[in-house]
Amino acid sequence: MKITVNNKEYWANPGETILTVAEREGIQIPTLCYLKGFSPTGSCRVCVVEVEGQRSLTPACAFPAYEGMVVNTNSPKVRRARKTIIELLIANHPQECLTCVRNGNCELQNLSAQYGVRDLRYKGERRTAKIDVASPSIERDPEKCILCGRCVRVCHEVQNVGAIDFVRRGFQSCVAPAMDGSLNAIACVFCGQCITVCPVGALREKSSAKMVWEAINNPQKHVVAQVAPAVRVALGEEFGMEAGTVVTGKIVAALRRLGADRVFDTNFGADLTIIEEASELLHRVKNNGKLPLLTSCSPGWVKYVEHFYPDLLEHVSTCKSPHEMEGALVKSYYAQKTGIPPGDIFVVSVMPCIAKKFEAQRPELGDEYADVDAVVTTRELARMIKTAGVDFTRLPDEPFDDPMGESTGAAAIFAAAGGVMEAALRTAHYFISGKDMENIEFTPVRGLQGVKEAEVTITGIKIRVAAVSGLKNISLILDKIRNGENTWQFIEVMACPNGCINGGGQPVSSDPDRVRKRMEAIYEIDRSLPKRSSHHNESVMNLYKEFLGEPNGHRAHELLHTHYVERS
Ligand code: SF4
Ligand code: SF4
Ligand code: SF4
Repeated sequence: MKITVNNKEYWANPGETILTVAEREGIQIPTLCYLKGFSPTGSCRVCVVEVEGQRSLTPACAFPAYEGMVVNTNSPKVRRARKTIIELLIANHPQECLTCVRNGNCELQNLSAQYGVRDLRYKGERRTAKIDVASPSIERDPEKCILCGRCVRVCHEVQNVGAIDFVRRGFQSCVAPAMDGSLNAIACVFCGQCITVCPVGALREKSSAKMVWEAINNPQKHVVAQVAPAVRVALGEEFGMEAGTVVTGKIVAALRRLGADRVFDTNFGADLTIIEEASELLHRVKNNGKLPLLTSCSPGWVKYVEHFYPDLLEHVSTCKSPHEMEGALVKSYYAQKTGIPPGDIFVVSVMPCIAKKFEAQRPELGDEYADVDAVVTTRELARMIKTAGVDFTRLPDEPFDDPMGESTGAAAIFAAAGGVMEAALRTAHYFISGKDMENIEFTPVRGLQGVKEAEVTITGIKIRVAAVSGLKNISLILDKIRNGENTWQFIEVMACPNGCINGGGQPVSSDPDRVRKRMEAIYEIDRSLPKRSSHHNESVMNLYKEFLGEPNGHRAHELLHTHYVERS
């Protein structure tokens, strides 16, 4: 179809909206409630345009293009309407930009600047509400909410949790958990996907930065930092670098400049997880154990299965997640090696995930001392680096410390959905056949699809696998398992769509291609490493010889495995 936008002709495909055509052709139309990939609601009206023949302005996100349509996206009437909408939103919004976590990266702030809002023409009653700070992972500030509904849709349609929804009517409308309670009191799984789509500062992580600074400034504390695989392909975005820029060495250098005594690599813990998980899988296959084995490194997913499918908990691997394994070893193996009392060690994990904050507080993850004392997200680390006045872009590349600094390509790919599965298959193949896979890259579980299935045969043993990300996707598979339609032996599950590279603690970015770029960088790291299978990590194999004994053995179980609880 031929349509005219701002006096120029364009082609539109049947079913396309004005906004889709405009985006494709580089014509900017502002949005707030619009979320790519979801059916439009047209509720915020910021994207209004003039369509010839229509009496009122029309939301571009919801209006389909038609043959001969004539659109103006930038008339005085359109600009006036948009500015008024923004002014009305601001009139019911706290003026707290200077102290807001989204200052400098806020869609409302940007629109206000773009449309030249210079004074507050509309003054009146403002909605008031308390900030919900009860959970260990997330803070909800309803006064800053502009009711765009993005979080509600992600929570319902992508995550299948439905923890939040619109409540009340008219001026009192707000987005809240049931009975206007706390996120901590309901089945919110703390995935943080709502934070990454929120255009303003109404949803944010519960910051642990103060606690980390206190530990750094306490001469009694030996601070050990560890860095998750996904952080290294995203942190650079907070310093103006392109998504997918690999900044591993700079992160190590930055953590040392902040005051960490040791900087270990969570990828070491990921290699260890693979040894334990591949051993657990083979044990279950050979001994008629519960199958499929469901992976356990994503704490949002673990909380989800505890709330919604407690009858399937026996399927979940008992392996702790990589940073928890590593924390447990820092406070046992490393403490023993160095003679530092475990109570004097403070472990801080830098993670792409806000559910890890909840996970670190689980009583079953630790004994006398918690395995991990604090979790900071990629975003929080960026803020800490800025606070410390460290010029991140000019830092040199520095290596991780031993004895938990070595890692393989298998550990690197944990960051992308499908990576844990691929890494586990590399090692399971070696455990079964005594040989490495001929082609180490198992591509059927790669890519941006939410569900990827494949079958591998290793010396006659057939293993049907799936890699699933996004909780709605796994719920469909769990329903099948519940109904006896069980054809898989091993399923990787990640709460966040596309895995940790798109975690709830990662930089909030307007780059629509950021997930693909981060994913490509992860596979590039794998390709660039001399060792690409976890069983070739010499430091991990030494750890078994010196300290743990057999994989999946008694000591490994004590330190590296856990159990789960049924939640209402
Ligand atoms: S949410 Fe945006 S507009 Fe509101 S206080 Fe924060 S930075 Fe300012
Ligand atoms: S953290 Fe996840 S489960 Fe909780 S409200 Fe946000 S999207 Fe829903
Ligand atoms: S909390 Fe954020 S994403 Fe959710 S409705 Fe409010 S402004 Fe939109």
